[in-house]
Amino acid sequence: MQSSYDTFRARADAVRAQIDAACRNCGRDPAEVELLAVTKTHPAEAAAWAARYGLRAVGENRVQEGVEKRAQCTASIAWELIGHLQSNKARLAAQHFDRVQSVDSEKLINHLNRAAAEAGKVLPVLLQINAGNDPAKFGAEPADAERLLIHALAQPALRVDGLMTIAPLSDDPAVAARTFANLREIRDRLAAQTGAPLRELSMGMSDDMESAIAAGSTIVRVGTALFGSRETA
Ligand SMILES: *Cc1c(COP(=O)(O)O)cnc(C)c1O
Repeated sequence: MQSSYDTFRARADAVRAQIDAACRNCGRDPAEVELLAVTKTHPAEAAAWAARYGLRAVGENRVQEGVEKRAQCTASIAWELIGHLQSNKARLAAQHFDRVQSVDSEKLINHLNRAAAEAGKVLPVLLQINAGNDPAKFGAEPADAERLLIHALAQPALRVDGLMTIAPLSDDPAVAARTFANLREIRDRLAAQTGAPLRELSMGMSDDMESAIAAGSTIVRVGTALFGSRETA
């Protein structure tokens, strides 16, 4: 629907302007920060809008939902998994997603590597780290990040692009800022220790992208600010 795409385009322009302003505020090049459109709970058409707007990729948080939408979507765009992944869905995820951002255990690494090898591909991944030490969040504990990374780097059918985190829900913006700064520190330390570039830092969503960008985010995952509230979807 034309009017719906127009609404999306206006929102995407506003989000992109917000990203660019946040970059200027901290002396970063706006080209370093990608806008990942989070299409979860929205119809496949949302991914088509993102493609038409020129975005590289969309993010989905459930395997089955993403697989179904991708099958319905004729637009050319990459699909990334950003939600918790259970090992028994690793095969499906490796087959149908272009990158998995939510890799948080050795078991999952093993399953994804095997499935990617069988699918004849090298699967790009990010390691999800619970950098805010949030008991309610998935992600590897920061203390386990090095062991997890070394294990992932040894898998021939995986390519580790970087790290991902979700900030704890909090009314205090300092909590998210600390979480993002922590992920950045973990990345810098692990990159120095292993020699892996770990270029991508996937952090920041609709409500906390400025603080994530200030801490070095290269991918902001934005749903609500692009597609509206999910409650009514
Ligand atoms: C839903 C979701 C987002 C987007 O959240 P918004 O607040 O709607 O921008 C980002 N990352 C993950 C992992 C999500 O599940």
